[in-house]
This record gives sequence, C-alpha cells and structure tokens, in this order.
Amino acid sequence: MKPAPFAYRRPGSLPEALAALAGEPNAKVLAGGQSLVPLLSMRLAAPTLLVDINAVPGLDTIEVVEGGSTGRDPGVTVGALARHTDVLAHEDARRVQPLLGMALSHVAHATIRNRGTTVGSIVHADAAAEMPVVLKLLGGHVEAEGPAGRRRIAAHDLYLGPLESSLHHDEIAVSAFFPALAPRAGVAFDEIARRHGDYALCGVAALVRLVDEPGSGTVAEARAGYLSVAEVPSVVDLTAELAGGVTDAALAAAGERALAALDPADDIHATAAYRAQLVRVLTSRVLRSAFDHAVARSSTPDEDE
Ligand SMILES: Cc1cc2nc3c(=O)[nH]c(=O)nc-3n(C[C@H](O)[C@H](O)[C@H](O)COP(=O)(O)OP(=O)(O)OC[C@H]3O[C@@H](n4cnc5c(N)ncnc54)[C@H](O)[C@@H]3O)c2cc1C
Repeated sequence: MKPAPFAYRRPGSLPEALAALAGEPNAKVLAGGQSLVPLLSMRLAAPTLLVDINAVPGLDTIEVVEGGSTGRDPGVTVGALARHTDVLAHEDARRVQPLLGMALSHVAHATIRNRGTTVGSIVHADAAAEMPVVLKLLGGHVEAEGPAGRRRIAAHDLYLGPLESSLHHDEIAVSAFFPALAPRAGVAFDEIARRHGDYALCGVAALVRLVDEPGSGTVAEARAGYLSVAEVPSVVDLTAELAGGVTDAALAAAGERALAALDPADDIHATAAYRAQLVRVLTSRVLRSAFDHAVARSSTPDEDE
C-alpha cells in the first residue's frame, strides 16, 4: 500500500522545525523513519505534513559525563539524531551506563539500527521496544523543545498508553538522558524473541544496587523493567523480595511479585500463560545477572563494567 498524500518539509534549524510543526496540527516529526514510514505505508498514520529533522544541526551528539568530573549529573545524553548504531558503538557511553549496550544489541537488525534513532524509539512509546524500558528503569528523562520553550519530561511521566507519550504534537524531543550506573550497582538485560532482533515476546531489564558497605552483598535496591508484557513500558520495584538475600526462593518470589503487578494478557504473539512463564523465568535470570554484575563491580577498584 502507498501512504496517503502528505506535504514534506526539511528545515535547516530547530526554530524552523518548530515553526513548521506549530502551523500544522496534523504534522509528524520524521527522524529515522523506521517506525513512522511503515505506519504511513500501511495507512495506520496519515499526517498532512512530515517535518524531517535530519538537516537540523547539533542533534546527532552523544555526550558522556563521568561521575565526579563536573557539577553535572553523570550519565549519557543522546541527541535526537544519534542512531541506535552510534550509541551502541560508543565505548564511553557503554562504560558509564552498561545497560545501553546490553539492550541496544537486541533492538531490531543492523540495517534498522543504522537509521533508527534512540530518541525516536523512546518517544514512539512502543511497549515492545527496548529503549523506553531502559530509560524508565534508570530514571532518565527527555528534553523537549516546543513553542513554550524547553521542558524536561521524566521517563516516569512519559508513557500514557499504547504508542502514546506525553510529548505534545508541536514539540521536538531534542535529547534523552540516561543516568550513569551508580557505584555498587549492576544491570542486566535479556529477552525472548522468535529471532534475535525481532520484537520480543517478553524482555526484562534489571538494576540491582548493593548497600554502601565494602564487601557486603546485601541488596539496597532492586527493580526490573518489562517490555512486550503490558500496554506501556513497566517497571516493578522488587527490593523487598531480594533485601533478605539473593536466593533461588527470593528470585522466584520476585518473579511472582512482578507477575502480580503486570498481569500479562494474550495477544497474537503469545498466550497469557506463556508470557507469565517468561516473566517468571526472565525476572529470576536477569535479577541474578544484575546482582552478579553489582558484586563484580564492587570488587574492582575502578568499578567499570
Ligand atoms: C522491521 C523492524 C523491526 C524493528 N524491531 C525493533 C525492535 O526489536 N526493538 C525496537 O525497539 N525497535 C524496533 N524497530 C523500530 C526502530 O528501533 C526505530 O528506530 C524506532 O522505533 C523509531 O526511531 P526512528 O528514528 O526510526 O523514528 P521515526 O520512525 O522517524 O518516528 C517514530 C515516531 O516518533 C516520532 N519522533 C521521532 N523522533 C522524534 C523527535 N525527536 N521528536 C518528536 N517526535 C519524534 C515520529 O513523529 C513518529 O511518531 C523496528 C523497526 C522495523 C522497521
């Protein structure tokens, strides 16, 4: 099928791009096009104007702030035109926040990662995508520019419903910020998909932080994020289940707790029962890996991955 007719603008600056959006309520931003173009082709979206931001300068940056190096929050700021491939290849970004590399290697296939942007994926708000869950689990945020100026949207407030974010139609997401991995913390990611690179039937990202005592393996904080399980990217606090020790029984309890919070449903890809079993198995597996990662980082002087 061919897209419905639309006008196309390729502004050379952010103010011009914002002006184009402001004049047309049924406009859409075009970044990598890896989600929008298929939607147009299937006529699941029919915007009257596409505002292509690929000629806007300064949006393709990836900036890494190391812990303790400046007054700024340590972490990775990914610009709106940084492709998944650029972020995945960025060694400093992967070192400062290892979950980026762990999750990005599961995002689609190489050709799609070469063009698709990490920020585009985040604002597209697909509950089957990896990067929205990663941003929410880490407590990151998006910087959005609109007619009223710039505002920060916490990942926690970004996801309203299926493919629905709190970004306004006349705003452009200029960057996403992923906080650095804290000392004595570890992360892990795993998913089950029919083929590596396909959308997952279920995926889990986990963050485990140990209490601030050298040599202690006691969990101070444990959270897991879920993709392809609920209608929005979802994060569940599992600290209570692991605070008494990371045993098989505690990990199984964490899986049951996550399941109760998420209540997965049937869809064309998997039954609710199968998806529930994936939540149980992946929650235990990924939390265990994140705990092991935290322990390993705590025992190395530079706390690198
Ligand atoms: C075959 C296939 C398989 C895929 N598999 C996966 C997968 O397994 N996991 C996964 O996470 N993704 C997958 N994707 C999607 C891919 O990761 C896209 O890169 C991503 O969803 C959107 O990024 P984009 O830059 O291509 O955005 P676009 O397609 O250009 O835009 C997507 C939406 O976001 C809006 N948007 C984009 N950027 C901005 C911005 N800066 N400000 C405001 N609005 C903006 C657009 O208006 C549009 O509504 C797949 C895509 C394809 C085609």
